[in-house]
Amino acid sequence: MKILLTNDDGIQAEGIQTLRRALEEISEVTVVAPSYERSATGHGITVHKPIRAEKVKLGGSANEHWSVVGTPADCVKLALEVLMKSPPDLVVSGINHGANLGTDVLYSGTVSAAIEGAVNGLPAIAVSLVDISVLDFSFAAKFTARLCTLLKEKGFPKTLLNVNIPAQEELPKGVRITKMGSRHYVNTVESRQDPRGREYFWLAGDVVNVKGDGSTDVDAAQNNYISISPLFFDLTDYAIMEKVKSWELGKIFS
Ligand code: MN
Repeated sequence: MKILLTNDDGIQAEGIQTLRRALEEISEVTVVAPSYERSATGHGITVHKPIRAEKVKLGGSANEHWSVVGTPADCVKLALEVLMKSPPDLVVSGINHGANLGTDVLYSGTVSAAIEGAVNGLPAIAVSLVDISVLDFSFAAKFTARLCTLLKEKGFPKTLLNVNIPAQEELPKGVRITKMGSRHYVNTVESRQDPRGREYFWLAGDVVNVKGDGSTDVDAAQNNYISISPLFFDLTDYAIMEKVKSWELGKIFS
């Protein structure tokens, strides 16, 4: 098995390095990851300046790895088009330090890297550790390695799995296959003053998990279950499509 591993927390982050060591026990691994943290950069790509990629040594790993001055989506593009000698069987992104639940996936660099793999026809997994106060990625890394082995056994189906692993003191209660739930943030914009007295803003805020019908990723994570959501990047709202057609928009065309 051959895995392309990336993230959005940066190549030196604890999450990706713990996952690399776990994946190297079951697969050949090539790390192509941002040189510094690129969290919440979504699916952005770099088109107005050069992208630098530097070969790096990681731990005892004999493989070639790359540190890229670019976004997570840049990393996957570069890896697939120029850096890897042959395409991977699987793209893995993470382990992110912090949850990617519900609408978080729209902002997440971690999930976007996995989506870029899927856009290129590859199975992909995004993995996040739910609790930001926990720094132990060992269980999540082991679980992800087992999940990769399972996908190999299934013949690498074209999946895009968003995996969120609770990191509370006790182990998760089990695994739930979930749909995207809802989270929103309150008090998101802080207004501050710079030393010259000019106002500037800082995006932050507290998360509000919206309780779902029990089958969402947010519900699973809150109940200490591992959440696995199969995602797709087709954003079409099929439910309302026929209604919009009935509006006869041709009438406002001319
Ligand atoms: Mn991150």
